[in-house]
Amino acid sequence: MNTLLEQIVTDCGHYASQGQVAHYIPQLAVVNPNKVGIYVISENGENFHAGDCFDTFTMQSVVKPLILLLALMDSGSEKVRALVGVEATGKPFDAFNYSDQALTGANINPMINTGAIALCTLIEGDTYDIKFARLLELARKLAGNDELDVDESVYLSEKETGNKNRALSYMLKAYGLIDDPVEEILDCYFKACSILVNCKDLAQIANVFAHHGRNPATGEEIFSKEFARYVNATLATCGMYDGSGGFALNVGFPAKSGVGGGIMGVIPNRMGIGVFAPALDKHGNSVAGVEMLKRFSQVMDLSIY
Ligand code: GLN
Repeated sequence: MNTLLEQIVTDCGHYASQGQVAHYIPQLAVVNPNKVGIYVISENGENFHAGDCFDTFTMQSVVKPLILLLALMDSGSEKVRALVGVEATGKPFDAFNYSDQALTGANINPMINTGAIALCTLIEGDTYDIKFARLLELARKLAGNDELDVDESVYLSEKETGNKNRALSYMLKAYGLIDDPVEEILDCYFKACSILVNCKDLAQIANVFAHHGRNPATGEEIFSKEFARYVNATLATCGMYDGSGGFALNVGFPAKSGVGGGIMGVIPNRMGIGVFAPALDKHGNSVAGVEMLKRFSQVMDLSIY
């Protein structure tokens, strides 16, 4: 398997030249676009990897399934479903173009910015610092890595320049979807996006989702099957933003990407995969990352459809 992964890394590295690293967060623009890594945890718990899989990068939107999961664990699926819908928007992750009638909970989903920002309000905790601390604790538990932490420079960079997310949040507020102070909610969201991980961390997190909330390495039930189904279904339909349909067709399993260049792939009942390659396509998905997952899926026959 390691030979296969090494071959995939070698074959897919050049796809980086078809994309660009994210520029709208200044600290992401300084990343080396030629990094490529993959990490796979297989059905029997074996670990395989190739390339720059131990390089760290910020989770960015890959944290959205964790925000959704914690909101579900803390507030239950009825409240979550009432606040944020599950239909694909077919729009970019930071789209503004909602008509006056369309900015309702039903017209957003947990995998785009507005949905994730709104769901931060359903995480338990008297302050947004506490809510974030609980989210970080969940990320550490799912990844089996107590060292996970925030990249301060990316967090501050996004906090300083994240005016589009501010505007989206004030829209949520204007339409009555959130009540709390925007800056406090966003502070939690920006920190969440800035959690540093590597491909192994993503593969471990994905593997818990693949096993419906149970960590197969320890046997621990971290969350319910019901919540795993909720999150995995949302990943399948919306996890790759407005590239989710093409990804379903070409790769064929639930996944979540982030503008840091990471993607986690969840193969239900089977495996967790983490890939990293920072150059992004027009949807904000890692170009080489998607290509690596496509090749791996084809060779291993992983499409669930
Ligand atoms: N922090 C990023 C933002 O809010 C996350 C977006 C992403 O990864 N697509 O814009």
